[in-house]
Amino acid sequence: MGRLRRSRAHHARRDIHRAARTRARPARDLDQIQLIDLEPEKRSTLEAQPLNHELPGLGQHYCVECARYMETDAALQTHWKSKVHKRRCKQLREPAYTIEESERAAGLGREERRPTVRPAPEMERGTEMAVVP
Ligand SMILES: [Zn+2]
Repeated sequence: MGRLRRSRAHHARRDIHRAARTRARPARDLDQIQLIDLEPEKRSTLEAQPLNHELPGLGQHYCVECARYMETDAALQTHWKSKVHKRRCKQLREPAYTIEESERAAGLGREERRPTVRPAPEMERGTEMAVVP
C-alpha cells in the first residue's frame, strides 16, 4: 500500500496555529475600548502603568487601541505602523455598537427617524448588558 494518512499528521502544531488564530484571551471589546479606554485620562493611565512582572515587557509598552502589551518599545513602534493596528484604528473610528443597533438588527427597533439621544435609559440598559455578558 502507498502512503496512508499523510495529511493531518502534525496535529499538535496545527492546534497551536489554530489557537493563535482564534486566540482566546481576556481581550477588551471594541466598544469598551472606544467608550472607556480612549478617553484622555484613562488613556494616559493605561500608557503609564506600574511595572507588572506578569505582563509582556513588564506592562510598559501598551497599545490602547488594540489592548495589547508589547515586549519592547521598538515592538510598539513597529506595531503602530502595522496593518493590524491601522485596521483596528479604522474600526474604532466607526461608531460603537449600541443596544439600539442590535435591536434594529433583530427587527425590534423603531424604524422611524427619531433622534436617538436618550441618555438615561440607554445607560441603564447598557450596564445591565455589561453585568450579564
Ligand atoms: Zn495597536
